[in-house]
Amino acid sequence: MTLCLGIESTAHTFSCSVVDERSILSDVRSIYKPPEGSGIHPREASRHHAEESSNVLREALDTAKVSIRDADAIAYSAGPGLGPCLRVGAVVARCIASYHAKPLVPVNHAVGHIELGIRLTNARDPLVLLVSGGHCMLLLFSNRRWRVIGETLDITPGQLLDQFGRALGFASPCGARIEELAAKKSSKYIRLPYTVKGNDVSYSGLLTAAKKALSSNSVEDVCYSLQETAFAMLTEATERALAFSRKDELLVVGGVAANKRLANMLNTICDRQGARLHVVPIRYAGDCGAQIACTGLPAYKAGIMVEPSRAFVRQSWRIDATDIPWREQSIEVSS
Ligand code: AMP
Ligand code: MG
Repeated sequence: MTLCLGIESTAHTFSCSVVDERSILSDVRSIYKPPEGSGIHPREASRHHAEESSNVLREALDTAKVSIRDADAIAYSAGPGLGPCLRVGAVVARCIASYHAKPLVPVNHAVGHIELGIRLTNARDPLVLLVSGGHCMLLLFSNRRWRVIGETLDITPGQLLDQFGRALGFASPCGARIEELAAKKSSKYIRLPYTVKGNDVSYSGLLTAAKKALSSNSVEDVCYSLQETAFAMLTEATERALAFSRKDELLVVGGVAANKRLANMLNTICDRQGARLHVVPIRYAGDCGAQIACTGLPAYKAGIMVEPSRAFVRQSWRIDATDIPWREQSIEVSS
């Protein structure tokens, strides 16, 4: 068995996880909470991560009942993400790797969401919908890389929900709270801007209109209408991609994948397109060390590693610029 320690620190979450080929032995998280009505302050979040890092690491090792000396590889999220936050994870990983002479494996955070989703759902060759605070993409695997075939033209669904929630005075992340408000039985639909261009979506007009709608409608009705509109846009783009690619599986990953209404809408199109829907289990939808460890392990086996002195972080690192030599070539689109 190979043991991999994964360290996640791209944004609000500092997390460490230990995995082997068979199971997730631990996944411990500490989440930075900004004041009510505010978003993530990168410097404050990085301070939180630095303060929490040793406790989270110790608990992850204790829960897994291993010592750091047992780890075969140390993986860290190298990007994309907030610079100050990324640096904390990279420094912790680099110190452990150089002190204990362990291989250091940089991981693309978006690849991490997908690898963990595939491992937990046993999806084989899916179309992937990655929807989170930092991402909104439709992806197909081809020729060693995840290829983006649809994305947001501006903000992500997570940003849409979090920015709208902050306008209501909530603290980020707000998606779960908006889901609760939207689920009130009496909610009525208010027309809001719906923007799908090919396989791409745009949410900034929807955000502005939803905030305006608060002055003349109930909070529950606006939350309901915002969710219905935002998720219908994603569902339309996803159905087009499913029909085009003729994939028989759809995998949904990222923090927004925790939303039951989204899964419900996607289920309808999967039925229509003859595809099986896989949704990452809610506990592993948001950012966590397990996504980094579960990617670091096959990456290490494929020989991907950096010298600790050359450890890097990239605030901007597109998933389609990341080689994935350990994943088999997907079956190409058939005619
Ligand atoms: P991540 O960046 O993957 O950690 O995902 C965080 C994002 O997921 C935040 O924008 C949250 O508001 C969003 N999120 C979490 N739970 C839910 C939910 N139940 N419904 C919609 N969005 C959610
Ligand atoms: Mg994420």
